[in-house]
Amino acid sequence: MIKYALICADCDAEFDAWFASSEAYDDQSKAGQVACLACDGTNVSKAIMAPAVSGTKKSGPPDPQKVFGKLAAKARQHVAENFDYVGDGFATEARAMHYGETEHKPIWGETTKEDREALKEEGVPAEPLHPAFTPAKPRDEDKLN
Ligand SMILES: [Zn+2]
Repeated sequence: MIKYALICADCDAEFDAWFASSEAYDDQSKAGQVACLACDGTNVSKAIMAPAVSGTKKSGPPDPQKVFGKLAAKARQHVAENFDYVGDGFATEARAMHYGETEHKPIWGETTKEDREALKEEGVPAEPLHPAFTPAKPRDEDKLN
């Protein structure tokens, strides 16, 4: 198994994905089977990686991965605390707010690709959430309790 950092040219999302081998990645990529986690787009390519920094040095520039990890954790917490999770109802809720039927509030949830395209056409503001900034779904947490 090999892990690649991938980047989506459509929405700039970055994410990691596992492949059986580098050949398997090449085959799937050529066949358009490597899809973006955020927008389902297939305009995905391997991210340019910085050279690995040896862990023995005490000083030196901060590890970008660690800095990003901290930011991502903060962003996830911010979303979890300030945004209402509306699940599959995202498109409905976003529309209701856009057309003034309900009060504006920060929400997050899931949409289908069709929903996303429809919202875009209607001019309803909605952006794909970076996978690293997406908190655990409240529903999943409920199951654990
Ligand atoms: Zn994407």
